[in-house]
Amino acid sequence: MIMERTLIKDLKNHVGNTVSISGWVDVRRDQGKMVFFDFRDRTGKVQGVVLPKSEAMIVAKDVRPEDAVSIEGIVNKRPDKNVQADRENGDIELEIKGITVLNGSKTPPYDIMGDTSGIDEEVRLKYRYLDLRNPRMQRNMHIRHDFIRHIRDFLFKNDFIEMETPLLTESTPEGSRDFVVPSRLHPGQFYALPQSPQQYKQLLMTAGFERYFQIARCLRDEDLRADRGFEHSQVDIEMSFMSRDEVMNLIEAMITEVVETMGYSIKQKPFPRITYADAMRTYGSDKFDMRTPAEKDKGILAYAWVIEFPFFEKTDGGGWTFSHNPFSMPLTPEDTKKLMEKRDIESILTSQYDLVCNGFETGGGSIRAHRPEILRAVYDVMGFSKEEIEERVGHMLEAFEFGTPPHGGIALGIERNIMNLANESYLREVQAFPMTRGGKTAVMRAPKPLEKNQLTELGLDIKKKK
Ligand code: ASP
Repeated sequence: MIMERTLIKDLKNHVGNTVSISGWVDVRRDQGKMVFFDFRDRTGKVQGVVLPKSEAMIVAKDVRPEDAVSIEGIVNKRPDKNVQADRENGDIELEIKGITVLNGSKTPPYDIMGDTSGIDEEVRLKYRYLDLRNPRMQRNMHIRHDFIRHIRDFLFKNDFIEMETPLLTESTPEGSRDFVVPSRLHPGQFYALPQSPQQYKQLLMTAGFERYFQIARCLRDEDLRADRGFEHSQVDIEMSFMSRDEVMNLIEAMITEVVETMGYSIKQKPFPRITYADAMRTYGSDKFDMRTPAEKDKGILAYAWVIEFPFFEKTDGGGWTFSHNPFSMPLTPEDTKKLMEKRDIESILTSQYDLVCNGFETGGGSIRAHRPEILRAVYDVMGFSKEEIEERVGHMLEAFEFGTPPHGGIALGIERNIMNLANESYLREVQAFPMTRGGKTAVMRAPKPLEKNQLTELGLDIKKKK
């Protein structure tokens, strides 16, 4: 008879019973007459023992760490002197009666249960599926999951609708290089992968959804750094009929509820709001860390809002470009007036707000220009001709002529938030399948050349590198 599987976390409720568990061999300690094991499944770990003369002994001698197994045995209370109070399930033990090896494991290429952070990245990511078995990686993926789940809970409770926006789209002016995808139907033409859903989420405000969010993938072809990859995810949010302070208050309430539910402490509530000019004066940076060394040790989260950024910054060529987001609304009516009159450009402030935490920019957003003449003026200041403006954002200007409501939003970088929660310094510790620093995919082998017939179909010719 095949016994139903019991999860390791539930074994405590089965003392005295024969049960079946399924999982992996975590550790094997062969003491000659007896063999001890630690088994693990997604819910925990438990010790098992094969007693002398047990029928299971023959198989036990061959079972190796990381084998996938199913075990039948009796759940015994350990005698008092053997209780390991500091260990999970330290008061019980499985007396193993039968072992079925469901699939054996080769010896992993490195010690996947130790500290894998120092393992050569190429090797580590080639075997990422093993690396992810590591307790720290399991923990980080669960923190990520919990963070997103609690955010969803909060947003659903507050009447937000979760919507998707296209991945194959047109270039957006987020300020990074696009990843592009060649079109087969239109040879010689290309889609861009989104750097963010910025324009589509604004169009959803035109469309009347009022409160949108998405756990959005964003792709940016930029130099890779410890906290920046080609791909990242963000909690992308947009709301209609909300002032800047209303948006910030709602996001602050969300973050507070989410991280406190997860058991974290926040240094200061409400979050301090610091102007860009003050931040630069006080910290010399707009991504500052307000924690004391003791607070760093305790994993305290020090959030702050940075506001009142300059809208524009000088380009190398002496012109102007946007500092954060070209779709933003200037901060005050006076700032809007200056923009419309194209004067005192350097003094125009934007409604942009950045959420800083523990030295990272963990989020950023703004109230948007929702009337066409304001967005047009931004592009005007940046030196775009009428035709270029039409080409870039003509579709937005047109949508703004159909009763687009005042709106604003934010995007929270999921990886940077999780790095803070998990106390990790590298993006690769909080993504399941990150890229190598050289831009190669984990486990699979991209990028790689296309087959000749694919190139032909796409109308592409590859030039040999000189
Ligand atoms: N689109 C912006 C970004 O990805 C965020 C926002 O303003 O909502 O950084």
